[in-house]
Order: sequence, then C-alpha cells, then structure tokens
Amino acid sequence: MTAVRTVLLAGGRVIDPGTGHDGVADVLIRGDRIAKVRQAGSAAPDGALVIDATGRIVGPGFVDLHSHVHSIAGQRLQALDGVTTALDLESGLLPIERAYERAAAEGRPLNYGFSASWTMARGETLSGRVFDGDPFGSLDLLGDPAWQADSSATQLRSWLGRLETELAGGALGIGVLMGYAPRTDPAEYRAVARLAAAAGAPTFTHVREIIESDPTTPVDGTVEVAQAAMDFGGRVHHCHVNSSSRRHVDRTLATIERARAGGAAITVEAYPYGAGSTAVGAAFLAPEALPAWDLRPGNIVLVATGERLRDDAHLRQVRRADPGALCIVEFLDERDESDAALLRRPLAHPDGIVASDAMHIEWPDGRVDTRQWPLPPGGRTHPRTAGTFARSLRVMVRERALWTWSEAFRRCSWLPARVLDDIAPAASRKGHLAPGSDADVVVIDPGRVTDQATYLDPTRPSSGVEQLLVSGQLVVRDGEIVADAYPGRGLRGEAG
Ligand SMILES: [Zn+2]
Repeated sequence: MTAVRTVLLAGGRVIDPGTGHDGVADVLIRGDRIAKVRQAGSAAPDGALVIDATGRIVGPGFVDLHSHVHSIAGQRLQALDGVTTALDLESGLLPIERAYERAAAEGRPLNYGFSASWTMARGETLSGRVFDGDPFGSLDLLGDPAWQADSSATQLRSWLGRLETELAGGALGIGVLMGYAPRTDPAEYRAVARLAAAAGAPTFTHVREIIESDPTTPVDGTVEVAQAAMDFGGRVHHCHVNSSSRRHVDRTLATIERARAGGAAITVEAYPYGAGSTAVGAAFLAPEALPAWDLRPGNIVLVATGERLRDDAHLRQVRRADPGALCIVEFLDERDESDAALLRRPLAHPDGIVASDAMHIEWPDGRVDTRQWPLPPGGRTHPRTAGTFARSLRVMVRERALWTWSEAFRRCSWLPARVLDDIAPAASRKGHLAPGSDADVVVIDPGRVTDQATYLDPTRPSSGVEQLLVSGQLVVRDGEIVADAYPGRGLRGEAG
C-alpha cells in the first residue's frame, strides 16, 4: 500500500466561499481530500510536503462550466489560469461514454465532464451523421443546414430518446446550441426543457437571436430559456450572456433577473472578451445576418491563417469551402471604454458566473494536442482559452475593485459547482474547502495575477497562478506545469 500523501499549504490568506472564511490559515490536504483549514503555524505532520503560501491567496480551484478544450495542451493553459475542473456543457458531446473513455485513456491534468449534445443528437437523426464522442465532428456539422430543420414527431421522439439515454449514462445535463439552429420550432426547445427538468438535469443553452438583433426570430433567445425555467422548474443555465447580448446586455440581464425573482433556477455566465470564436459556417455569421449585430465581414478573422474577411463574397466563399473553420468575431471593441463597461456588466451582475468558452488549440500542421510543454509555437485559439479567469481577477478585483477576493472565488468556484449539485452529487465536494471536499486548490499571487494571451499571441499562459492541485496532486508547481501530472477525473451525472 502506498502512503497517503499529505500536503500543507502554510500561512496563506485562505478564502473559502463555502463558509465565507477569509483569513490567514494553513490548509491541510490528505490524499485527494481537504483534511482541514486550521490555525496558521501549527506543526506540519510527519512526511508532509510543506508549501509556503505566505502573502498568497489560497482558495478552491476554478470550476469552468464552459470549456471546449478536449486536450492536454489546452487544459494546461487553463491550469495556469487557475482552473481545476473544465467541463464541456454548452456544446457537450455524443456519445459521452466515448468522450469519457478517451479522456481517461489519454490522461487529463484537470477534471473533466460532458453534457449530452442536443446538436449531435439532432445531427444523428436529421443528417444521418455518426459521432464518436469527438468534438471535431460537430464543428463542420454547425454549418450543415440539414440538422437545423424542424423535426417531425417521429424525429423529435428519436433524438429526445437519445438525449434521455445519454442522461441515464452519466451526462451532466443537456447542452443546447440553439443559436446555431435559430429557426427551429420553439416547441422543440420546450420538449427538451421538459425532459431535462423531469430528469433533474440542467440545460446549458447558447440562446438563439434576441429580438433586438432579429425582430423575425421565432422567440427572443433569452426570454425562451427564462420562460422554460419558470414553466418546467428545471435548472437552466444561460451561456455567455456577453456575446449573446452584446449591446443589449442590460435588457437580457433584466429578463433573467425577473425570472429569478419569480423563483426560476436560472444562472448566467460571461467571459471578459469583446470578441467571440466559433465555426465560420454558423447561422448567425451569414452575410445577411451581420448588419443586425453592427457587424461587417471585416469583424471576422480566420483563426488558422489570421486572415481578415474582406467582404460578403469572401465570407460566402469561406463558409462554402470550410464551414467548420474556426474564426474570431469582434462584437465589442475592448479599447472603447463604453464597450469595456458593457463587458464588465454581466461579471458584476449578482451571481454572474465566470466561464471561459475555451476553444481547442490548432497548430499549422493540423495538430490539436501535444504533451510537449512549453507549447510549440504557432498554436492558434481564442485568448479566452488561456486568460479568462486571470483577466477577470485582474479587471474585477485588482483594477476596478468591483469584487472582493471572496466574491471572486464565489463566482469562479462556488457558484458554478452549485449548478451541478442536483445532477452530480460529487459536485458537492467542489468549489469550497470544507473537510472532506476535493483537494482541488489554487494558490495565487494577488499582486501579480494577470492574463497574457492576446488575439495575436493566444497561447501565452496567464501568470500569477503559483500552485495548482487537482485531487491533491500538483499540476502547477512554483508557476510551472508539472510534466506527467494527469490527476484529472471524470465528473459524471446521476440523472434520476
Ligand atoms: Zn456558444
């Protein structure tokens, strides 16, 4: 039998959003669990690894509800951003069993988990596609019109049944990319919301167009999810309210707030960037859809080449040739103070959750993962992959003082874990530091933490995350990635 490893994080400012604790203390870790938070300066147990955390912030690692990173390389960037659990819930995968098998076989630095993919379930039924729990099969699906059609009663039964099977098999809820099939019959969305609520499973939705951007939308995207939360009583999560609402974020937040005040279990997330990233074939990037969003083809940049689109004809040509090609979409100007204030709004909103929407990294030779560290040069992705959490801390805590450190951990660790409490009882051990909780812990230099990734240099890791433990094992040690540390575990749902 191997001895249980003991780690003592000594003398840091320990913040536990579960209890409100904020003060200098020691954190004692035994094996993969927190043993206790105790008075600083107590003697270290024999054989313990002691890490001096003086002058540092110690708290539960960040739980990212929205990460499309399915790679060791991408997870390492997220580790240096403070994340200990990276979940793909907005898109999800199918079949999730294959996705969990693959992650376990390859090894992951961080904890992982998946929702059942509404997009892929529809794609199977309506487009005859076959999926293998692989994220890349869905990127080119996004530009394929067949899966975006309305379903017959038989088709609806078929893909709802598929989602139900995935929930029974351990999916963490249902991921709904409604914004990519924005003309589908709202009755179909309501059928999904009803099914999820009955199973005790959350939905994670990229909402369809809001009324301000498309007056012809079958229903306002934010009103649709808020109404479902009120009508069916299920847990409803509204993804990236920043990029879905852009200049109308005050209105969409008010819609959500009204539903919450009425008792609806609706939560909201945002990332602090003025540009989004998606497949260029997405419905909302059609040339005729851009003006409603104040967008031009010149606001779209292809990730693989850095090429900026010239005009409608160029956009049409790229969408035809490679609808799955990743692109950056500039929807707000981060250098403009009024746009920057709009980006802070959902982060300052009561109970607003930080989530990255991290994307995979792609190298010029087509590779999408590597065990090599530091990462080889030339990797392309969106800077939010590497920088969402450190940027949120820099802006909201250090520069603007809109959050205390307690508030930061509440929004980055505690609240996202609570979204999963009903579907995954094991989530109750995450997002806080109570004895017996998972030893997923981050140690941050509060004066130094910052994002460094930019649109031109998107794989530069954040700095200031000095130690990061997942299940009690160091993934980041003294600011450096620990090679061969793959302690990540799959978090599974238990839909009833
Ligand atoms: Zn999205």
